[in-house]
Amino acid sequence: MKNNGEISLDPNNWDEIRKLGYQSIDLMIEYLSNIEQNKVWKPIPPKTKEYFSSSIPLKPQSTNEIFDDFINNILPYPSGNIHPRFWGFVKGTGTPTGAIAELLATTMNSNTGGGEHIANYVELQIIEWAKEMLNFDKKASGLITSGCSMANLTGLAVARNVMSNNDIRKEGLRSMSQDFVIYGSDQIHSSIKKSIETLGIGSNNITLIPTNDKFEMDVENLEKTIQDDISNGKIPMAVVANAGTVNTGAIDPLNKIAEITKKYKIWYHIDGAFGALAKIVPEYDDIMFGLELADSIAFDMHKWMYMPYEIGLILVKDPIAHKLTFTLRPDYLSEETRGFSSFKNWATEYGIELSRGFRSLKAWFLIKEHGFKKYQLLIHQNIKQARYLGTLIEASDQLEILAPIALNIVCFRFIFSNKDDAINDSLNKEVLLRIQEEGIALFSSTILNNKYALRVAITNHRTKMSDIDLTISKILEIGNTLKK
Ligand SMILES: *Cc1c(COP(=O)(O)O)cnc(C)c1O
Repeated sequence: MKNNGEISLDPNNWDEIRKLGYQSIDLMIEYLSNIEQNKVWKPIPPKTKEYFSSSIPLKPQSTNEIFDDFINNILPYPSGNIHPRFWGFVKGTGTPTGAIAELLATTMNSNTGGGEHIANYVELQIIEWAKEMLNFDKKASGLITSGCSMANLTGLAVARNVMSNNDIRKEGLRSMSQDFVIYGSDQIHSSIKKSIETLGIGSNNITLIPTNDKFEMDVENLEKTIQDDISNGKIPMAVVANAGTVNTGAIDPLNKIAEITKKYKIWYHIDGAFGALAKIVPEYDDIMFGLELADSIAFDMHKWMYMPYEIGLILVKDPIAHKLTFTLRPDYLSEETRGFSSFKNWATEYGIELSRGFRSLKAWFLIKEHGFKKYQLLIHQNIKQARYLGTLIEASDQLEILAPIALNIVCFRFIFSNKDDAINDSLNKEVLLRIQEEGIALFSSTILNNKYALRVAITNHRTKMSDIDLTISKILEIGNTLKK
C-alpha cells in the first residue's frame, strides 16, 4: 500500500512478521522441550560480553538478522532457571503457555493503571483468585506487582500510614513525635529492610527478633520487646512474619504472632514470597494456620506458581486503608460516570505505579490451563523432592544437613573436616562453583550458624527425583576429588 511518506513502527510487510512469529514459536518449542540436554548455566565468553557494549544502531537491520543475533549471542546464556536442575535462590521456571500469554498481553498492550477496559477486570479476577487460594478475607483489596519486593513495600507503606498518628502523606515522618519500630525475625528478607529504608523509617528501627533452632521467630522475645518499646515511648508499627524464610523455608508461628499483633494493635504483615503457596497444599494447611489473619500479605506467582517473570501480589485486609495510602486523582485522571474513565478503583490508587503492564493475563491463562489442583500437586511434589534430598543427605556419612527442611529448601554441606569449619566453608564453596561451572545443576549458598551451606530451593515444575539423584552423586564425586 502507498503511503504519504508518513512513517510508523508497523512492518511494511506483515508476512515477514508472521514468519518471524512462527520461527520464534518453533524456536521456543524446540528449545524448551529439549532444555534438559543443555547445561544448566554456562559462563559468558568475554567476546560476547564485549559485543554488548556497541553503540546505538542508527540504521535499521532486518528482523532475520536480529533473530540470528539473538540466537547466537543471547539465547545460549540464560540464567538457567528454565532447567530442571536449577534450584538457586528462589526462582520460578516459567511455562511455554506463559510465554504465549505474554505475547498476547503485549499484543493488546493494555496499561493496567486504570480505565474501563477488560485487562483491569482480569487484574481484579486474579486478585479474587489469590484471596480464594489463600483463604484470605473476601473484602480485602489487592494489587498485582512486579514481585514480592514491591508487594512488601506496598503493604508496609499502608502499615506506616495507618499506624501513624498524623497525616504522613502530607506531613511526612518528621511530623511524628515518637519513633516507629518494626519487628521481624533475624531471617527476614532484604526486601523488608529496603522497604523500611525507602519508607523513610530507617533500618535502625527494625528490631530483629532471634529465632529458635528451626529458624522460627521466638514469639516470647517478640512480645517482651514490644512491651519494652511501648514503655520507652516508641510506636510498634508492624510485625513482619515469614511464611517461608529465604534461607531455610522456616515458617514463623503465624498464629501466635497474630495474637500478639492483635493484643498490641500492631499491623501484621506476612512476607510469603514463595512459602505462602504451601497453604494451598491440604497437608500443609496446618503449619500455615494464621496466614489468613494478616493485615497484609505479599507473595509471588513467579516463584512457586512457576509463572514467567514478573508477577507478585499484595493483599490488604482493609481496602480503605490501602486506597487512602495511594489514591491521587489529578485533573488528568478524573473519574467519569461514562466512557473510558468510568472504571472504579484504578490500580494506580492502590500502589505507586501509574503505567503498568498486563501481567494478570498469564496468570489467568495458566490457572485456567492447569487448574488450581495442579498447583497443589506441583508444590507438594517440590516439597517431597526436598524431603527426598534430605533422606539422601542423611543416608550419606559424607554429607550433613544444616537446617530442618520445613518446605522446599535444603541446606547442607559435604563434610571435609570434623574439626575445621574454615576448610568446610572453602571446599564446599568450591563444590558449588564446580557444579555451576560444569553446568550440572545450579544451587546457591547461605550462611547458617556461621557455617557455609549449600542451599537447594526447589520451585521448579520440571525437576524429577532423578535430577536430585544425579546432583547428589556429582556432589559426592567432586567432594571426594577435593578431599584427596
Ligand atoms: C524472593 C523473595 C522476596 C522478594 O521477591 P521478588 O519477587 O524477588 O521481588 C521477598 N521475600 C522472600 C522471602 C523471598 O524469597
